[in-house]
Amino acid sequence: MWEKIFEKIKEYETIVIARHIGVDPDAMASQIALKESIEATFPEKKVYAVGQGSCKFTYLGHLERLENVDYQKTLLMVLDTPDKRRVDIDNIDLYHYKIKIDHHPFVEEFCDIEVIEENSSSTCQLITEFLIATPLVKTKAMMEKLLQGIVSDTNRFMFQNSKSSTFHLVGKMIEDFDLDLPSLYAPLYLRPLKEVRLQGYIEQNMTVTENKVAYIYITEEIINQFKTDASAAGNMINNFNYIEEVLVWITISEDKKNDIFKISMRSRGPIINKVAEKYHGGGHALASGARVKTKEEANQLLEELESVCKEFLKEEVVE
Ligand code: AMP
Repeated sequence: MWEKIFEKIKEYETIVIARHIGVDPDAMASQIALKESIEATFPEKKVYAVGQGSCKFTYLGHLERLENVDYQKTLLMVLDTPDKRRVDIDNIDLYHYKIKIDHHPFVEEFCDIEVIEENSSSTCQLITEFLIATPLVKTKAMMEKLLQGIVSDTNRFMFQNSKSSTFHLVGKMIEDFDLDLPSLYAPLYLRPLKEVRLQGYIEQNMTVTENKVAYIYITEEIINQFKTDASAAGNMINNFNYIEEVLVWITISEDKKNDIFKISMRSRGPIINKVAEKYHGGGHALASGARVKTKEEANQLLEELESVCKEFLKEEVVE
């Protein structure tokens, strides 16, 4: 399959690389590293990594705006996105040929070639494997970004998606490209004091239910009080992993500009993406997100998670 994708890249003079809305380090690092590799291999090609960026991830590089695309002559590569509605790009149906490379559970087919490896830790792992399997140029700078994406999506190798293949690959990346872990971790985990203080607020004020669901509403007032932004609470969701009394945890952040509540959800056991899918969301079995319009809907989602946790705890007792 990698060979076939390499041949398609050779065929097109213009290549656009897109990913899901709500950029994260895995999505963005895979885009930028792939773009740099194709450009280094084929300097005559025009390659664009596109989508709404975030000032948080400028250490990974920059995204571009598309101008005057001749769609009928352009290859679109969609990374890290299982469904068409979440691809951060306009006119997706106009592209001449489309390739998807993703590690999310399958949602729908919308590309001509689809590589979906649900067992892979990250899209960055898949892109690294792709680069290694083909004559595409590989440099230290590309491998640094790809490793940052892997580290981010595995939460420093703490999630279940860190398989032996992940460790073998990362070992090879470190050895072959002389990568320095502490300097790669710093931009991923360094954060302003105001965010640490918001984290403290969440820890102090989260509600924990009978069936080990922890949740908190982050209103615009709280965001303003801590002088952060609407995405801050969602971004720190991975920091609440190991609380004994908590199995599933959720931040519900008010986004007044778009008139929605953004929900980030994580779990240490119960499968949560099936619940997320019912609320304009989705994601992985233990790491998902959703969007709701009203507090009532958010409360309904919480009730469903409560039932899922209750069942999980019952089964644990039986075992
Ligand atoms: P987050 O909590 O934003 O880090 O997202 C965790 C996982 O859920 C990622 O794989 C996202 O791509 C996915 N996800 C987040 N929000 C949504 C959504 N509204 N629809 C589908 N998938 C989502």
